Amino acid sequence: MSFPSYVKLVEVSPRDGLQNEAKIIPTDVKIEFINQLSTTGLKVIEVTSFVSPKWIPQLADHKDVYQHISKNVAIEYPVIIMNKQGLENALTVGVKEIAVFSTPSEQFSKKNTNRSVAENNKITVELIDIAKKNNLKVRGYISCVLGCPYEGDISPEKVANLADMLMQWGCYEVSLGDTIGVGTPKKTNTLLDAVKEKIPVQHIAVHFHDTFGQALTNIYVALQSGIHIIDCSVAGLGGCPYAKGASGNVATEDVLYFLNGLNINTGVSLEKLIQAGRFITGYIHRESRSKVSLAMIKKCKN
Ligand code: MG
Repeated sequence: MSFPSYVKLVEVSPRDGLQNEAKIIPTDVKIEFINQLSTTGLKVIEVTSFVSPKWIPQLADHKDVYQHISKNVAIEYPVIIMNKQGLENALTVGVKEIAVFSTPSEQFSKKNTNRSVAENNKITVELIDIAKKNNLKVRGYISCVLGCPYEGDISPEKVANLADMLMQWGCYEVSLGDTIGVGTPKKTNTLLDAVKEKIPVQHIAVHFHDTFGQALTNIYVALQSGIHIIDCSVAGLGGCPYAKGASGNVATEDVLYFLNGLNINTGVSLEKLIQAGRFITGYIHRESRSKVSLAMIKKCKN
């Protein structure tokens, strides 16, 4: 059995987590949270979405958040972009990396973007072109890769073709999102085999949700499949506003403990991560992922 020696964790809680919390977090709290995450050793922190406040009021302060976080030059701070207006706004505050969305599900596309798959792809191509002209890096997301709340099963070949297109359009990495957390190890394996036929494994990231407690097992399968980029969210924050019932993203603390146990290097401090998780959960009255004491974590180096 072989595993990668290093895994890149992509922290999505400030965007994917906080956009799904009913409570709107004050801007200064978000900034402090992201600043704390920046000290953990994470190399990528997705900070917000430049989306209309009409759609996601929780992230209406996207410009302020991006401008006022303390940016570490060794860390990437991507933002989600859904349309040209959002991209123009992002450019005015010096964003260096964006992420764009796509999905093979017609119905999810309609709910999430109010566009058909073809319409959304057309806009995605335009967004990537503008981004590249401005020397931005672009990450591609594919939603509902292992199942859709409206359409049910999704064909792995459709996902693989979309991943291929995103790479051809100019993305440097494609994150495969199990948006509603219905993936199982067997399905994950089949999907990854299909996607790896189309794009090199080093460009594939996985994004699991823990609806049925399958996320870590799916990650285990992904690691065996050669994947070394994992999206995760401190305290398991998140869900999906357009996928009712979707539970949180896989918790970064859980993923890190798991990877540490496999002797896979991430460069991230579990203690600092848990502290950041406690800080933010203190504001949203949600339980912090890990209730064990930091002293115990230090003792039990797995
Ligand atoms: Mg998610």
